[in-house]
Amino acid sequence: MKKAIYAGSFDPITKGHLDIIQQGREVFDQIVIAVGVNPAKPNRCFPLEQSLEMIASACEDVHISPDAIDIHSFEGALIRYAEKIGADAILRGLRQVSDFDSEFRLHAINALVGSIPQVYMICDTRYLHVSSSTVKEMESLDLPIGDFVTQSVLNAFYDRRAD
Ligand code: ADP
Repeated sequence: MKKAIYAGSFDPITKGHLDIIQQGREVFDQIVIAVGVNPAKPNRCFPLEQSLEMIASACEDVHISPDAIDIHSFEGALIRYAEKIGADAILRGLRQVSDFDSEFRLHAINALVGSIPQVYMICDTRYLHVSSSTVKEMESLDLPIGDFVTQSVLNAFYDRRAD
């Protein structure tokens, strides 16, 4: 059984992330969705526990089988966590050239200190410009975000506003 780890901040999970998970499922049997926790950057829009629940709900929204995913959080280096869970590959998503810059650096570092293959996928053209920060910014400006996140994530934003 081939297992890939797909890591990020997922604050919140977008349709771009979900597209990469779905593409990953075409190649890997299991995708571990891992939320990286950086104690130096504690200011998430959605708290960690809620983000983990939102990832599960969003995957359900787009009919990703719960048997095909595992949702975790981790601290520290992605490569070390990937080794710890026995991942066969590190799955990354690419949007535009600017992603390539940072991914190229991450690839070089991971290749220096570890030996897990890194796999890159490009998301559907509809989501090439979508990032968690764009979604948060649009939502804060009262702009519609329904094209970029699933219903359960929209609901989480509504609830957050109501609080
Ligand atoms: P964001 O940049 O949206 O905050 P993350 O830090 O959670 O996202 O990113 C996790 C991974 O998902 C990275 O490999 C990132 O390049 C990828 N990713 C994020 N959004 C998209 C998207 N719209 N299309 C393809 N890959 C994406």
